Formats: sequence, C-alpha cells, structure tokens
Amino acid sequence: MENKQQHINTKCVQAGYTPKNGEPRILPIYQSTTYKYESSEQMGRLFDLEESGYFYTRLQNPTNDAVAAKIAALEGGVAALLTSSGQAASFFAIFNIAGAGDHIVSASAIYGGTLNLFAVTMKKMGIDVTFVSPDASLEELNAAFRPNTKAVFAETLSNPSLIVLDIEKFASCAHAHGVPLIVDNTFPTPIHCRPFEFGADIVTHSTTKYMDGHATSVGGAIVDSGNFDWTAHADKFPGLTQPDESYHGVTYTETFGKAAYITKATVQLMRDLGSIPSPQNCFLLNLGLETLFLRVERHCENALAVAKYLEKHDKIEWINYPGLESSPYHALAQKYMPDGTCGVIAFGIKGGREAATKFMDSLNLAAIVTHVADARTCVLHPASTTHRQLTDAQLKDAGVDPGLIRLSVGIEYIGDILADIEQALETV
Ligand SMILES: *Cc1c(COP(=O)(O)O)cnc(C)c1O
Repeated sequence: MENKQQHINTKCVQAGYTPKNGEPRILPIYQSTTYKYESSEQMGRLFDLEESGYFYTRLQNPTNDAVAAKIAALEGGVAALLTSSGQAASFFAIFNIAGAGDHIVSASAIYGGTLNLFAVTMKKMGIDVTFVSPDASLEELNAAFRPNTKAVFAETLSNPSLIVLDIEKFASCAHAHGVPLIVDNTFPTPIHCRPFEFGADIVTHSTTKYMDGHATSVGGAIVDSGNFDWTAHADKFPGLTQPDESYHGVTYTETFGKAAYITKATVQLMRDLGSIPSPQNCFLLNLGLETLFLRVERHCENALAVAKYLEKHDKIEWINYPGLESSPYHALAQKYMPDGTCGVIAFGIKGGREAATKFMDSLNLAAIVTHVADARTCVLHPASTTHRQLTDAQLKDAGVDPGLIRLSVGIEYIGDILADIEQALETV
C-alpha cells in the first residue's frame, strides 16, 4: 500500500508498484491484451463492474495501472488515467463532463495543440469555448461564464509563454460557478507544483515532457483530486450523477464516490475512444518518473543560471523566465512553485528574426528540435519553424515575437551549456 506520509522524491522511486514475496523487483511489462478466467460467469461480473480485475488492456493493464497509481500519488489525487498522448488527456478531461451544446472557459495562453483542439475540433463537436487571459481580473473571468459552462481550463505554467497561473483565483471563480478547474501541469510537474493543494480539481499532463524526460515516449495523464462535489451540481453533470445506460445503469457518483470522474473516463471514454498507451511506453515512463525529482531540480538550476547570464548580456533584447526576480510572474511563481519553475526560457536577441536564426544555427551542444523538456538542451525558433508561414505583423498578433527563441535547458554540465550559448552569441 502507498504511504501518504512519504516525501514526493520517495514516491517517484517507489509508489505504484509493491512486489509481493518472490515477485520481480522491477515493474514488469505486461505485454498482453487479454487475461484468462476459469468461468464466463466471473468474467461477466467484471464486465458489470461488480468485481475488479483485468479483462482487456484497453480498460486496464497491470503495467499501465501501476504507473497511473504513481502519478496519482505524486499529484496527491485519488486515481489517474494514462492516455496515449497529452492531446488525448486534454480531450478526455473536457469531454468526460462536456458534450454538444455545452461551453467551457479556457485560458488563452495554452499549448498550441490544445488551442487547436478547443477552438477547432471541439467546436465542430458542438462544445463552445471562451478564451480569457490568464491575467484576467475576477470581473473579466466572471463575465466569461454561461449557464451551460461545464469547466474552466488553464495551464499552471504556460507553454511557451511561461505565464504562472493564479490557481487559487481561477479555482474559487470556477467553484463559485459550480464547475471544476482543470489544469495542465506539464511544465512544473508535481515536483514543483501540486495544483490540488490550491483548489484545482483535475490535473492533466503531457507525460511526453519532463515526466518521460528522455524524449522516448509520447503519453498523457489525467489525475482526479476526488474533491469536486458533482452531486452538489447534479443538473450540470448528468453523465456522472444519472444512470449510464451503456454500463447497465451504473451511476458513477453513487457507485464510485470520489473516483466517479476518473472511473467514468476509464470505463466509458477509454472503452469507446481507445486512446491507451502501450505497456512498453508506460514502462519507459516509469523509468523517467523514478528520477523526475533529480532531473527537474537540475533543469531549473541550469535554466536559472542561463537566464541570469542572458539577462545581463548586451545582445539580448528581452527575456522571460519566471524564476528571475525581474519577471512579472516572479511573485506568483514564489507562491505556487517556490522550489523552481521549469527548464524552459523564452528570449529575444537584438536584430530580430535574422539574428535569432544566426544564433541558433551557431549552437553546437543545443540541438534544433520540435520538442521541449527532455534531458538534452534544445532550442526552437517558432518564427522560422512552427509559425513560419506568418508575417512579422501576423506573428505579433499571435503573441509570438519574430525574434522569440524557446530554449529548453537540459541537465548537461552548466559550464558547457553556457559556453555553447556564449560562442553562438559571438557570431551574431
Ligand atoms: C506537449 C504539450 C501538450 C500535448 O502533449 P502531447 O504529448 O504532445 O500530445 C499539452 N500540454 C502542454 C503544456 C504541452 O507542452
């Protein structure tokens, strides 16, 4: 059994899997789609959710479940569901409680993939979204709600703009309107921010980033705090508080209590949509999680050193890193992630787009990749890659400075990272 008193670093190493006498010390990869039973009657009870047990890997797998349990323990939630990607986690988290004719409120500063999911694909499915600034006042936030609003969504530390969310403000506002706050906690990870302690109800992750940490496996997670009282707003959430005819009339809040939301996501959405991770990928994710606290600490230590170096450099036009005292988000970072933020830094070089390209092409240790948050230092220039079809004027409208460089600081020796940046800046 998991020990709630253990430090989070110990949970990274040990939570989720406790072998019995003579069993493998390391979490085995159960590379099996199916499970054997002695009688069809017993199998029937599993299908009716009257007994718990494995019957098909789309719904449950021992490897996947152990890793889900570890992530739930790290966030301090009641249970978690692993998905095949962070995108799937964001979709499931909303679709579990909102459908055609419903509405959500979302922070505007979110990952580009999530923005597309909400603004384009979920809109086609009949779910409307109102975007609000993560810096919105309470009045502006309140004005975004409608009678059919089912959730508020935001990132605790936004990718790539690095805005720190005022979690307590968003949570209390969501609760005043009878809906949960769902936050994407990918960038700080539970090592540096545990949103449930500040009132968030559901946490999502792209485990592809720091949790995996080695750029091996795309994956996602949803964690349920168990704290949101669905029955107090029963009319808003009939999918949880009324019988599910597709599951023999089970009412999730009655049968599963605090785990109602995550159980529905597993037995209904995962059953029907099937976005599961492979046991092999979950095994790799677990290896990443074992060292998460060590790596995240070094990522942040290195990033702060790079940010301080860049801040003083005369070729740097601007820098955004919430760990810097000069950042407008420093105070919020001190409150919500006092031990550090993340390893990603955004900055601009004097000379705009051209200087940025020259700088990046001159880097040796830092690789140009479309990725962030793994052990290797890497860099991306949105204006010449992900946003290259846009003019400078269009880029500014999209909130992306043409000179913006996103640097994901790795865990290499800091002297080597700084030396690489220094020689590249000399060429500009
Ligand atoms: C990468 C990312 C996602 C999407 O995750 P995938 O695993 O790439 O599908 C969602 N949110 C944030 C903050 C991300 O950085």
